[in-house]
Amino acid sequence: MGIACLFGHKWNGCKCERCGETRDEQHDWGGCRCIKCGKNRDEQHNWDGLNCSVCHKSRSVKEISDQFLLAKIAKNDNYPFDTRIAALHEINNMSLLEDIIKHEDNTFEVRLAALEKVNDYSTLIRIAKNDKEVAAYVRVAAAKKADDQNTLADIAKKYGWEGESALKELNDPKLIADVAKKAKLKGVRQKAVAKLTDRAIINDVLSNGEYHDVIVEAYKKIPENRPYVCLIEGLGDGQFDTRKEAAEELIVIAETKPEALLPIWDWIKKTIEIPYSQGERLNTYDREEAGLYSDSGIGLKFPTKPKSI
Ligand SMILES: [Zn+2]
Ligand SMILES: [Zn+2]
Ligand SMILES: [Zn+2]
Repeated sequence: MGIACLFGHKWNGCKCERCGETRDEQHDWGGCRCIKCGKNRDEQHNWDGLNCSVCHKSRSVKEISDQFLLAKIAKNDNYPFDTRIAALHEINNMSLLEDIIKHEDNTFEVRLAALEKVNDYSTLIRIAKNDKEVAAYVRVAAAKKADDQNTLADIAKKYGWEGESALKELNDPKLIADVAKKAKLKGVRQKAVAKLTDRAIINDVLSNGEYHDVIVEAYKKIPENRPYVCLIEGLGDGQFDTRKEAAEELIVIAETKPEALLPIWDWIKKTIEIPYSQGERLNTYDREEAGLYSDSGIGLKFPTKPKSI
């Protein structure tokens, strides 16, 4: 206390105008802090996420009820991972969860944890079908959660390892056959064929499949075809001589035992009759994925498919 205030301070609220002494009454609160003396109080904080921007007090996500703010914390990688996940658990607004799932900076754990919170069927379907903004692995998880077989098949046809994980969830034989016929990746196509058991559906793959590797795999699945499998494999060989040899034997079989080749007739005819060419424009990987080989075509004539046997 200064000498000037010996006989009493000149209070202006909590502070003496003369000597600067403070008292704990009549503060001039600006939120949680007195603008005159700087004292803090535990109310009316100015929250910026989890911290007060004035006094730096911190709070837990459980104290936050504002869904938008919780979503902001979940998306912000300046926060520790556990905090982001904890914020996520407090969110139950579906469109905010959907937004987090699409947010491009999110780590995959955050996206998948957000997906776990989605319990609305139409939101799940929309996420599963969103191939522009949602990563393929999240789409698989969403399609799986909604058990949306069509979207799973769609993903299986287009993608690599995500395609395989989508295929694992597929149990509709017609859709599996469609994946076998059309999947971009050889591994996915072949795993799809391996899942097929129905004879009519295997025959459908044989009649309508486009890739040599799938035709061979599907053909192998029917026991009566075994004697001819190596000839069918031979048609896809990278060496012209091997293909030609296989083709010549198949032409003989077509004339003597046509029933053995019926389900695959059109494909054999097309393959054998394509003029010989050297497919050098593609690199090995692309060729393989496209079901092509180092050269292609044989250029022999194959008999017309018998009308009935
Ligand atoms: Zn004073
Ligand atoms: Zn004060
Ligand atoms: Zn504060």
